[in-house]
Amino acid sequence: MMGRRILILGGTADARELAELLDRETDCEIITSLAGRTSQPAEQAGTLRVGGFGGADPLAGYLAENEINLLIDATHPYAAQISANAAHASAAAGVPMFRLERPGWAPLEADVWTDVASAEEAAAALPHGARALVTVGTGGVAPFLQRLDIQVIARMIERPAEAPMPPHKIMVARPPFALEDEKLLMRTEHITHLVTKNAGGKKMAPKIAAARELRIPVVMIARPQLPEAEIARNLNHALAIMGRLLA
Ligand code: NAP
Repeated sequence: MMGRRILILGGTADARELAELLDRETDCEIITSLAGRTSQPAEQAGTLRVGGFGGADPLAGYLAENEINLLIDATHPYAAQISANAAHASAAAGVPMFRLERPGWAPLEADVWTDVASAEEAAAALPHGARALVTVGTGGVAPFLQRLDIQVIARMIERPAEAPMPPHKIMVARPPFALEDEKLLMRTEHITHLVTKNAGGKKMAPKIAAARELRIPVVMIARPQLPEAEIARNLNHALAIMGRLLA
């Protein structure tokens, strides 16, 4: 893996951890790309570039011009467009790629989960009078805020440009969140439903564990279909795949 240049498509904690690991443990040059959605991204090992590429073909052009040896798609499982672009660009530029993708969470027997396909379906699934903690990011929150017969607490990393109509509230906070804090929030706000994407991860997220303990029903937005790709389920797996692809 000597002296290779790796482009990580990031925007997740996994991408950040991977960049740090590769920067520390290998002599590869690590470039992480962010879309630029948050104005103050967290600290990052290696080189950072920010902003869209302008589509799949320009991404292929970037790979060729910058002599990238390996592309790692470590974007969020719900970031479907950039993953499609990555698959296309990898094939077009002849640069190997794989995706770092955590397995999704699954309900336990006692959990009450409603699986839906989109934010619109999730908003429609909430009963009249619900008090919902909505953790779907800035992009997917509009259908919830349009419902004025429910109360929404929408948690997101950055305050949106427009304040929501009462009774809805925006809560600006950046993960990680502790289980006890999640339980306290759900109790003090009398939350009746948790709405979330199935981001997945080694451990069940504290918000899911809190909902489980407090017997709060979960409305789970399903992951979108992504293009075929080799998948690393964790950082060690990613290292093994990298070793093979760069051999
Ligand atoms: P998306 O819909 O798949 O992508 C929309 C466009 O944003 C892409 O076509 C690309 O623009 C640009 N883009 C996305 N990720 C990029 C990256 N890592 N580097 C450079 N450009 C990128 O993506 P999204 O759902 O808006 O997510 C944007 C970012 O937020 C991603 O980095 C993702 O990992 C992170 N994120 C997303 C979610 C989520 O729920 N969707 C949650 C947490 C974090 P061009 O076509 O111009 O290249």
